[in-house]
Amino acid sequence: MHPTFPDPDLNSLLKDLRQLVEIESPSSDPVAVGRVMDVVEGWAQAMGAETHALPGGTREFNFGLGDGPYVLVLTHADTVWPHGTLEKMPWKQEGDRLYGPGTYDMKAGIVGLFHAMKALRQAGQWPRGGIKVLLSPDEEIGSPGSRTQIEAAARGARVALVPEPPVSDSHNLKTGRKGTGDYTLKLRGVASHAGNRPELGASAITAAAEAVLALQKLADPAQGTTVSVGLISGGSAVNVIPDECRLSIDVRVASLTEADRIEQGVRAWKPSNDRVTCEVSGGLNRPPFKQGEGTLRLFAQAQAIARELGFEIGHESVGGGSDGNFTAAMIPTLDGLGSPGDGAHAVHEHVRLDRWPDHVRLLTRLLLEA
Ligand SMILES: [Zn+2]
Repeated sequence: MHPTFPDPDLNSLLKDLRQLVEIESPSSDPVAVGRVMDVVEGWAQAMGAETHALPGGTREFNFGLGDGPYVLVLTHADTVWPHGTLEKMPWKQEGDRLYGPGTYDMKAGIVGLFHAMKALRQAGQWPRGGIKVLLSPDEEIGSPGSRTQIEAAARGARVALVPEPPVSDSHNLKTGRKGTGDYTLKLRGVASHAGNRPELGASAITAAAEAVLALQKLADPAQGTTVSVGLISGGSAVNVIPDECRLSIDVRVASLTEADRIEQGVRAWKPSNDRVTCEVSGGLNRPPFKQGEGTLRLFAQAQAIARELGFEIGHESVGGGSDGNFTAAMIPTLDGLGSPGDGAHAVHEHVRLDRWPDHVRLLTRLLLEA
């Protein structure tokens, strides 16, 4: 017989979510991200957690850690949305959909987690080994400052639960993710007057155009490898042969073999004009999150719980990375345990209020039983 847990209270979930959403927290502004972290740390302290600020800006909240491995929960306080987004994309409820920047990815996940932990407390339950929550400031930019802390925390954990959003517009959890990386190419040519002396110049933009076409050809969809130049900037004036151009490439891979092939391909590329130089930086920042046996077992457990609670969940491997990629290489990791919804990184970002409470119930049980 399972203990009975109090039902999630939607009004209270919404009140807490609104508090986090109305503090804008782009990854580029650690002070703003810190404001969200302060609120969440307050919630953790009110529940009696021991809280620490770790090197790199991650906060750690320890709830009743004992001997033996704990349950690790990975969350992030940053969003992809710049300051001022709330003016154009305000907090807005329409029927069962609650819109706003960072709602789905992943402020609702943080709020749901705290409500799940409170439900455990109210029922007098706590998992053996306790719960360690990490709240990182830089997930949306590849976790440069938090990766070491996440991997260190995974060493003491038996499982990692990640309340990132489920698969868009579904109840499906995430049991695999591609590895992600990015590269930046800095091309340097020779400037010259575009009308009087074009032959003295060496165009960095022409070289960039070659790079876009050549490097995107490294993609291999059958292997799950995608390559996309997502940013490009260069030139100084329309009538000057451009001596500078910069481009950034997004890379996703399903295997380390493919990651190596891309790494070699990007670094080996050279402009056809030998008066243009190319400097490459970047690389793979998250390893592929493979659907491991331990993760699939954890999913099966979640599925059985969901059925008992009266709903069906599935699972998928997805293209986007998360901090779960780091832990999946070490311990069973189940991702997508936040609120259902849609529109991560898009203007229609929202959570589904009709489905959210069920996923809080699911997370409550998993925290205890995983
Ligand atoms: Zn996220």
